Parts: sequence; C-alpha cells; structure tokens
Amino acid sequence: MTTSRPRTRRQTRLTGTPIVAGLGIGPVTFADEPVLAAPRLKIAATDIAGELQQFEAAVIQSRRQLERLHARLAALPETARTELAPLIDAHIHMLGRSRLMRAIRSAIEERLIAAATAVADVAEDQAQAVLAARRTADDGAAQRQAEEIRELGRRLLRNLIRLPFRSFADLPHGSILVVERLRPSDAALINPAQFAGIATEDGSPDDHTAVMLRAIGVPAVTGIAGLIAATREGATAILDGEAGTLILNPTEASLTEAARLRAGFARAQRSLVRLLRLACETSDHVPIELQANLELPFELPMIAQSGASGIGLMRTEFLFMNHETLPDEDLQFTTYREAVQAMDGDPVTIRLLDWGGDKQSDASGAAELMPDVHEPNPALGLRGVRLLLHHPALLELQLAAILRAAAYGHVRIMIPMVSSLGELTEVRAALHRVWRRLQAAQTRLPAELPALGVMIETPAAALIARTLAAEAAFFAIGTNDLTMYTLAVDRSVATTNRLYDPLDPAVLRLIAMTVHAARAFAIPVSLCGELASRAETIPLLIGLGLRQFSMHGGAILRIKRVVRTTDLTEAQTLAAAALAAPTAADVHALLT
Ligand code: PEP
Ligand code: MG
Repeated sequence: MTTSRPRTRRQTRLTGTPIVAGLGIGPVTFADEPVLAAPRLKIAATDIAGELQQFEAAVIQSRRQLERLHARLAALPETARTELAPLIDAHIHMLGRSRLMRAIRSAIEERLIAAATAVADVAEDQAQAVLAARRTADDGAAQRQAEEIRELGRRLLRNLIRLPFRSFADLPHGSILVVERLRPSDAALINPAQFAGIATEDGSPDDHTAVMLRAIGVPAVTGIAGLIAATREGATAILDGEAGTLILNPTEASLTEAARLRAGFARAQRSLVRLLRLACETSDHVPIELQANLELPFELPMIAQSGASGIGLMRTEFLFMNHETLPDEDLQFTTYREAVQAMDGDPVTIRLLDWGGDKQSDASGAAELMPDVHEPNPALGLRGVRLLLHHPALLELQLAAILRAAAYGHVRIMIPMVSSLGELTEVRAALHRVWRRLQAAQTRLPAELPALGVMIETPAAALIARTLAAEAAFFAIGTNDLTMYTLAVDRSVATTNRLYDPLDPAVLRLIAMTVHAARAFAIPVSLCGELASRAETIPLLIGLGLRQFSMHGGAILRIKRVVRTTDLTEAQTLAAAALAAPTAADVHALLT
C-alpha cells in the first residue's frame, strides 16, 4: 500500500521468519511490480460467459488476498493498523457491488472486450473521472481515491493475467531488497551477488519461495508483518537472517554490533570447511549420507564442492519458470546431463515436474496444461504426478530427456505427489514405453533403466508405504507437503504459520511408518524436505531411523557437524519420546 509510508526515522525492529542465516547491511530498495500491460483483446459474443467467469474468479481471488492482509493487521503496531485497515476495507468494499465492478462487467458484455482489457480500461477511466471532478489541483482526497481505484485494478489484473516476470537486474548492488510478496519464479530471478539481504512481508518457512531463497543463499527473512508500511526506500537497514529481524534506521551502536556479528558469521562459515575432509557419521560411527537439493542450475558448482554425496532432489520446475516457451526435450536433456556430469558418478535424483499449487509457469503453452489457477484448492487439485498423468505427452517428453541424460552418469527418477499405487504403476508403464521407443530409435541410453522412486509427501502415501515399498526402488520423504496435507495447513500462508509444524507428532508418526516400510522392503529412504536442514531436528530424525538426508547445498556442512556429535542410542530414546509426545509443543520441549 503505497499511501502509508512512515515519516519517522527512529530505529525500528521488525520481526519475521528466519529463512537464510547471515547478516546484511545496506540501503532498502523496493522492487517495483512490473508494468501490467493488459492485452488489447476483442472477443466474440460467444466468449462473453467465459470472460465473465474469469473476471468473477479474479474478484474472488482478490478478495481472499485482501482478507488475508486484513487478518495480518493484528500483528502491526497501532499506528500502521489505523492507516492500513481503512485502505484494505475500501478495496474489499469496491470488490462488492461498486460502480467499478458494474462497469467492468458491462464493458465485457457490451464492448466485447476481454476481462483483462476491461479491468485496465475501466479502472483507468474511473480514476481519470475522479481526478477530473476534483475541486482543486492538489485535492488529496481525490488523488487518493483515484490511486485506490488504480491499485485495485492492478490487483485484479495481476490475478487475471499471470504476473509477468519481475526484473531485479537494475536494482542497486549491496542493497536490502524489500517486497510485499515474492513468487518462487520471482525468487529464481534474483542474482545472489546483487543483494545484501532480502525481506518480504508475505511468506512461510517451508513455502516454495523459501526453498528458492535458500538456494540463492542471500540472508533472508520473510513473513515480516507491517514491512511495507514501515519501510522507506533508501533507509539504512540491518537484516539478520538468523534472528529473523530487520532493523530500520539503525543507531550507530546497532550498526557496530551488526558488523561484529557479520564478521563472526563469516568466521564460522570458514571454520565449517575443515569438516569436508571428515567422515559423515554419528559419534558412534553410524554412517549418514548427506545429499543436496538442486533448485537452480547456478547451484551446481557449489553443490559439487559442498561435500554432498549426490543430488537427492533435483526440482525440475525451474526449467519451466521464467521462460517464454515450455522447454523441449533437447533443452531438458542438456540441463539434466549437465547436472549428471557435474556430479561425476554420484547419483542425481531427478524429480518429475511438480507443477500446480504455488508452482506456476508463465511460459506460453503452460496455461493450457496447468490446472485453472482460480480453482478453489489448487494444492488439492491436479498437482505433481496427477497433472503429468493428465498430460501424458508432457510426462513422456520429460522421461525421454531424463533417460537420455542417464547415459552420462548415475540417474534416479522420482515421482512427486504420489497418493496411490496406480500413479507409480502408470508412470512406470510410461517409462517403459519411452525406453522402448528410444531403443527403437537407437538413442544412446544407459545399460539399465534408472531406479524409479516415489516421494512420500501425502498422508495417503505414508499410510500405504508398505504397498508402495513393494514396488518402488526408493522413497524420499517430502516433509514440506507431508506437513501441509497431514495438518491441513497451507504451507504458503503466513497467517496460519503457527499451525504449520513438521515436528507435530502426527507428521513424525507418518515419517516413522515410512521408514519402517522402507526398511522392511530393504529400499533406501531419505528425507528431503526443509526439515532436513534444521540442525536441531537431526538427532530426532536419525533416531527415527533415517540415514539419508537431502537439503540445500549451503546447509550440508552445518548438518554434518550435528551428525558427528549425535549418539545413536540417545537419538533413539529421543525419537521414542517424540513419537509418544501428545503435542508439537512437547516435541519442541524435548529438542531444547
Ligand atoms: C516437500 O514437499 O517436502 C518437497 C521436498 O517438495 P517441494 O518442497 O518441492 O514441494
Ligand atoms: Mg513437495
């Protein structure tokens, strides 16, 4: 909300969720939303109903967003709350039976223009009309009202057309990037060398944006209530990605302290390097394998040097983000081959495309394949393997690219969002089909079909883990989604953060069931959710029977240090107590 920038320059400390440890000091820079150019589209009379339907869906989505913002006001200081609440109320009110809404609907029906065109035209016309009717040139109320109409128009438009790529490239180096919301695809565009820190108002610890931010490795804090209202462009800020704080207009004393902490952090990072040469085993010599998650191609050199014994999760969504077109088989093949060659014989676990939910694509052609973004529960819809089985050509193209890359090293294939045995058998059938087709075309292939494993990230998959273990070559537990689906809490909604807890005994019991099933059928099982990079949970997870973890490359040595001080017997006692704990709070108490 642009109208509520603070005027004071006193030191202010804001708190959010720590995402990437490290200290950043620098001037605040805002990343402007891209200019929303509405397509100039005429429609036929037969398209009216469809356009109106899209418009209504955008209204619903906008109202939900505003209600979420409203719910978060409670966390703000009184002054910010009084400034922001009426603005949000006004926007929600305008989404009801307002002149703006009526005019947009009739523009679609009578002028035969697309919903996005109608929103852009009508909002601008009405804003201009308000300004034209003002009594004086500096009539502040009229200017505010016009800006409110335009702002609501922008929100509707953003929800109607997929937001185009954001550009961060021109922002000043060394600054602290402050934004209201980052989509995972926005985060993927950030150059890690450019910013001293990243702060967002929205966001949760295990959403896909957080996953991307960890891949980028710049100190980051998300979910800072009141961030936009409290921040002024150019103000000096200290971002502490470990404490989860952002200090605005710091005093000299705070700056000195931050510089001291930053130097200490850099020293601690350097001292971790000596662990590279040491074995990854518990204090009583139980070997533990640490692999890396790969989100973005630029991580490859870092991962290859991180001490990781392979890639436990290569998310392939990045290939489909921020591109004009969907990647063809050759582009996918070269990307996968690069990863396989960089890992030099160590396994690379390529996960099939996990589209849907908060992972969207702007590429042309994507819209026809993606589930409707306006569906009420995208996380429960056509996501992951369900979407792939719905579009067999998309699945087979990716399988072909992976099989070709598998000729260059050790590849495993992993299926996301499995909730039934049928999904595994259908993907396997597709894999065999593609294999035979490539063989017939004399394509260079590995000697054997790569191992096909499943992600255990729905309660259904954990509950039928024994059935799946009889058929799958390996398991990878995705605690980010497993937590969301088990506790019925959206991982990407900041207001429900308090309820989202991978250490809830309900989640831990599903993890334990999965590990038992894998052991019974002698297949490998790893844990590749964000939980794997939380040092305090490692003894508990080892106690639950896990011996393999996959995490963002920057966390490997930190986790190795914890592994080396963990005693198996103590870990098992801890795990038994956690499994018997009545609540998540009790589990946390055990860990402290
Ligand atoms: C998970 O759900 O834990 C996981 C690793 O997959 P993603 O975060 O990509 O959904
Ligand atoms: Mg997942």
